[in-house]
Amino acid sequence: MPDIVVIGGGAAGLMAGITAAEQGASVVVLERMKEPGKKMMITGKGRCNITNACPISEFVPNLPGNGKFLFSALQQFTNEDLLRFFQERGLETVTERGGRVFPASGKAKDVIAVLTKALQKAGGRLVTGVQATGFVWKPGKISGVRYRSVENDGRREGQDFRSLTRGKLKLGAEHTLDADAVIVCTGGASYPGTGSDGNFVPALTNLGLALEPLLPALVPLEPEEGFTEELEGLSLKNVEATVLADGKPVAKEFGELQFIRGGIAGPICLTMSRKVARLQHFNQCELELSIDLKPALSEEKLDARIMRDIQEFSKSTLAEIVRKLLPGPLVAPVLDAAFLDGKKPVSQVSKEERAELIKAVKHFTIPLIGTRPLSEAIVTAGGVALKEIDPRTMKAKRLAGLYFAGEVMDVDGYTGGFNLQAAFSSGYVAGISAAKNILKR
Ligand SMILES: Cc1cc2nc3c(=O)[nH]c(=O)nc-3n(C[C@H](O)[C@H](O)[C@H](O)COP(=O)(O)OP(=O)(O)OC[C@H]3O[C@@H](n4cnc5c(N)ncnc54)[C@H](O)[C@@H]3O)c2cc1C
Repeated sequence: MPDIVVIGGGAAGLMAGITAAEQGASVVVLERMKEPGKKMMITGKGRCNITNACPISEFVPNLPGNGKFLFSALQQFTNEDLLRFFQERGLETVTERGGRVFPASGKAKDVIAVLTKALQKAGGRLVTGVQATGFVWKPGKISGVRYRSVENDGRREGQDFRSLTRGKLKLGAEHTLDADAVIVCTGGASYPGTGSDGNFVPALTNLGLALEPLLPALVPLEPEEGFTEELEGLSLKNVEATVLADGKPVAKEFGELQFIRGGIAGPICLTMSRKVARLQHFNQCELELSIDLKPALSEEKLDARIMRDIQEFSKSTLAEIVRKLLPGPLVAPVLDAAFLDGKKPVSQVSKEERAELIKAVKHFTIPLIGTRPLSEAIVTAGGVALKEIDPRTMKAKRLAGLYFAGEVMDVDGYTGGFNLQAAFSSGYVAGISAAKNILKR
């Protein structure tokens, strides 16, 4: 019987397994997929943005989903500690724009290889193709996990695992594995093809644990149908976008956005998506995205600029003047928003019509359904409610022998390496505290 079972072989689970095993505990990490770290493989476009090089004090503000909860974990295992961890194990890193840290090889698989090797070296075992389905427990105490091997993937690993379970393993059938402690690192529910799909949520609620609803964070926004189809493929730089809820501004960002099929993506939309998803879920309000297409120009300056163009190109149509101001695909939608006829000769455009045009350029408004679905999100907001967890140890407050780490908890951050550092720091703390708790007995 192992001392500790870690459920989930992602960033948090592998780190928890390593630190627990390095403390001297016997550790088994269960991963349902054929290989560990499937989600890590797709982070940073396959390059794995392992952390951010900013001062550790800047991590909490970059974790808008309850970053404060991780304050202690981030102090116990900082981004510098993480980089030292990788460097000592032969993984060189590079720091790029915005402090984003990547492996120098540019390959996520090298990060995963270091983690799996470190687990093995510390004496921990990784068993893939095995899915945890629940707990062995009695009131107040966790004493193991229930699991089943997953189809054919279980066969290869089953050979290995069978010895551990004294020949009990049968493909597809449910078994139990006793342990002194269980660390749950099953991740969120986005990009379900990576193995993190929320399958373990029922097991957690069956224990009586409080969970916050799983919602998308860092996901494109979803416009109402018929509003952005003609803009698909268009990227806008240096614009200011505001999310309006029942006409009131609730979030504002300056930067870059992109119109994609069925959505509006790009850094500023991803950043605001967390708020939009919550409004969509909790409040039945009308949502809109208002884009200032010329934030550097006040309405007066924009009017002066349009007047100059009208005087210089007095034989043009209104559409030709607007084209000098905006990218081609935006001309017709902006004129439509202003109820103006693009074919009209500019010599006939009135002051009132110019005012309507300026309003449409400064407040180009798109009605939103909300965000794209959770399956398309980079991060999941929600998860195990933080009131259930001690932030200094990652230990469940109401159940002995139970720990959490990573995205399964109600914590989420911005892009830039903050989510992986959150997973590594909480995994580190959960592994150490679970092992210390067992070994001191
Ligand atoms: C497209 C994309 C890009 C991203 N880019 C970045 C980035 O550049 N930087 C960054 O910091 N973050 C990034 N993230 C977020 C980051 O990948 C996650 O926050 C991080 O992987 C969370 O780590 P975790 O260990 O908690 O969960 P995961 O990495 O999701 O690992 C959970 C593991 O548990 C396994 N599992 C689930 N249920 C069970 C079960 N019942 N039994 C056994 N195993 C189970 C899963 O198969 C999975 O391997 C990105 C995410 C996506 C989707």
